[in-house]
Amino acid sequence: MRFVLFFLSIISLPTFVFGFDEPDCDTLNHLYATQYIEDFHVNRRTFEIDIAMPIFECTGNDKNYKLARAIHDIDVLGKNESAGPDWYAMVAMVMDLTGGEILYHEKFKSDPYIDGTVIYDDEFDEVSLFFTKRIFQDTERTRVTYSLIHEVRHMIINLTINGKEVPDEPQHVTCTQGRFKGQIGCDEVLGFLDTLKEGSGNSYEFQYLIYMRDHPDASPLMKKEARAQLRYLVRNMFNRIEPGALEHWGVSR
Ligand SMILES: [Zn+2]
Repeated sequence: MRFVLFFLSIISLPTFVFGFDEPDCDTLNHLYATQYIEDFHVNRRTFEIDIAMPIFECTGNDKNYKLARAIHDIDVLGKNESAGPDWYAMVAMVMDLTGGEILYHEKFKSDPYIDGTVIYDDEFDEVSLFFTKRIFQDTERTRVTYSLIHEVRHMIINLTINGKEVPDEPQHVTCTQGRFKGQIGCDEVLGFLDTLKEGSGNSYEFQYLIYMRDHPDASPLMKKEARAQLRYLVRNMFNRIEPGALEHWGVSR
């Protein structure tokens, strides 16, 4: 009996050590309905959000479940400001200031392989973020989380936050190496923080992944996926790496 108790206490230890638990389904539904949909401007029509609760079951590839979970990640990890910037506040502010929305689109005829994208409407001076079915079918736990940060970077043009001008998003350039060589989708340079702040989606995604990897409250799975995606970005999504940058960020090729 004593042995059993000892064993149980070991099993429950990671909860205290890492401080991250998957939220229970009621909590997640409640946060989504009362806070996240509004803060992140989730489009109710395209996401088929009914006013009845629960909005989603917490299983499978339900788009609302996975989006709610991603926003919850950003919410939970955003509360520890000593670990870095408040990403939740940043995203909410960008959505507010641009009047943008997060919309769902089954898939794009022009490119059926798109997971997420940002579309500008010059005529109405609007910018909208789209996620497609593909991203919600992905098995990676944090894919929607860091993709959201990536796409939000594409929304930042002529934006002043708290009186400070945020560098305009420079847009992706043609990849000169890696898996997408010859295609548009890379950021020019992977460097230190000042360089990353001026970069495009990959640069913001990189910053967020470093934040997630190093966050005391991130789960072991989050950290593992962050490390894997960081290596992927380094190998494929930047054309040039500033000397010393990889050592600085603790990322290997
Ligand atoms: Zn992008």
